[in-house]
Amino acid sequence: AASKETLGFKTEVKQLLHLMIHSLYSNKEIFLRELISNASDACDKLRFEALQNDALFEGNAELGVHIDFDTEARTLTIEDNGIGMNREEVINHLGTIAKSGTAEFLSKLSGDQKKDSQLIGQFGVGFYSAFIVADKVTVETRRAGDDAADGVCWESAGEGEFTLESIDKANRGTRITLHLKEDDGEFADSFRLRSLIKKYSDHIAVPVYLPQEVSEDDADGENKQIPEAVNQAKALWTRSKSDLSDDEYKEFYKHVSHDWNDPLLWLHNRVEGKLDYTSLLYIPAKAPFDIWNREATRGLKLYVQRVFIMDDAEQFLPLYLRFVKGVLDSNDLSLNVSREILQKDKQVDSLRSALVKRVLDSLDKLAKNEPEKYQSFWDEFGDVLKEGPAEDFANREKIAKLFRFATTKSDSAVQNVGLEDYIARMREGQKKIYYITGDNYAAVSSSPHLEYFRTKGVEVLLLTDRVDEWMVGHLTDFDGKVFQDVTKGELDLDELADAEEKEQQKALEETHKDLVERVQKALDGDVKNVRVSSRLTDSPACLVVGQYDMGGHMRRLMEAAGQ
Ligand code: ADP
Ligand code: MG
Repeated sequence: AASKETLGFKTEVKQLLHLMIHSLYSNKEIFLRELISNASDACDKLRFEALQNDALFEGNAELGVHIDFDTEARTLTIEDNGIGMNREEVINHLGTIAKSGTAEFLSKLSGDQKKDSQLIGQFGVGFYSAFIVADKVTVETRRAGDDAADGVCWESAGEGEFTLESIDKANRGTRITLHLKEDDGEFADSFRLRSLIKKYSDHIAVPVYLPQEVSEDDADGENKQIPEAVNQAKALWTRSKSDLSDDEYKEFYKHVSHDWNDPLLWLHNRVEGKLDYTSLLYIPAKAPFDIWNREATRGLKLYVQRVFIMDDAEQFLPLYLRFVKGVLDSNDLSLNVSREILQKDKQVDSLRSALVKRVLDSLDKLAKNEPEKYQSFWDEFGDVLKEGPAEDFANREKIAKLFRFATTKSDSAVQNVGLEDYIARMREGQKKIYYITGDNYAAVSSSPHLEYFRTKGVEVLLLTDRVDEWMVGHLTDFDGKVFQDVTKGELDLDELADAEEKEQQKALEETHKDLVERVQKALDGDVKNVRVSSRLTDSPACLVVGQYDMGGHMRRLMEAAGQ
């Protein structure tokens, strides 16, 4: 049974290890944060499983993480008494990358160190970061509840393979030993470790211990090392806002989101009353690599009365807010709530409405108070938010208020005009919000359909994102004003024309009556109708689609899809 087995890493792990070691060496120290984060997750998972089966505690429910080091031997160990792993779990979790879209992600890496380290940060590599500082990593682990003889030892130099061996392990949980590289001995040091734990892991809810240095002339004369908890060891969201620094919020974000970048903003609320919960929601600064991947994990970390229940609880946020990360700690839900129960629970709907409102309101506030910061949010997540009106009809006005568009006003492709601004600038008599859709800015901004609007000084929204035509279809109106495609049907430009122009138009129609009839005859069957129009100022003629026909952009999309 003690036989050693050698297994190969999956290709993507090999690639990732290689890239990580080369692109993250300027930020080595984050490995400790990742390993402590995993140890804390393992404690959360044990506490959750023990709700159903108290025996898993094996008589010891005091969960924690112990860090130890040997300066001489250049080793560092991180040991937890959490859930642990069995053989199969070790192979699955420490031999592959269980994320959809990994291959695609890796193909995006360029070899440019700075860009890659940012991307890898968004990807979140966790455990494998140990190899940034170690040339050998040993993981000894045993799953809670398994026999002591069912322990597993995993070992690897981070090159193409790892070995597995059965071991006896009396204590449940995981013990990770890093054999530090020659240049990285600095991490086997009490002072360094202490400051790193303080910096990155203070918010971890279980205690993180370091051996306490006892002075030589100690009472019993022995240089005995007693572990000492270095962090606060209290769930961060249960602490009061005034007690928390920005840095603490930021580090906690990295722990829950697996994103290595700082968040854009956070919302921390304790609510009592009909609903009783605490939420700490984050809006990331950067979209994750898999934001358009349907299978990508999303959702909040769910706790019930401080007990971890599950990761990726999707039920509390709609799809169009799938970029929001964070924690929800409910006092109303039951401790044995499951994903299935969440799908039917009425409380969940109330919680979801409350959270959606909170996110939309805070974005609105951001747009008002910090327009530049808001613009960076829009540039990252605007496309996702545009799914809102279709998914959340009740909130569509609120969502639309957050939209930003390129328009004929600014003559630039930058999306920075809100609908409120558009309406404030509407011409007297203008009742509609005009827009045009197309594949790209160059195409729409040079469309002959815009000529008349330009001469009249009427602003037109230039919609060039894939979701746009679909989005306006669901939005239909804003602040009582309907959206009108300038390429569709008969525009009541009348309302924009002054009396003199109306006269002229009548006269024109009269003068060209014969011409219109002749053209109509010549094109019979090819077009529905021929009209004299004031739409154009420079071009002689243009094609227009009917008010209820599919827009040109949509038609091309459908054609491309083989419809
Ligand atoms: P993530 O934390 O994002 O899931 P990691 O690469 O950090 O990714 O870890 C991969 C997986 O390995 C974890 O999801 C977990 O299942 C397992 N794992 C890592 N460290 C531990 C640990 N200390 N105890 C139990 N399982 C662990
Ligand atoms: Mg992790």
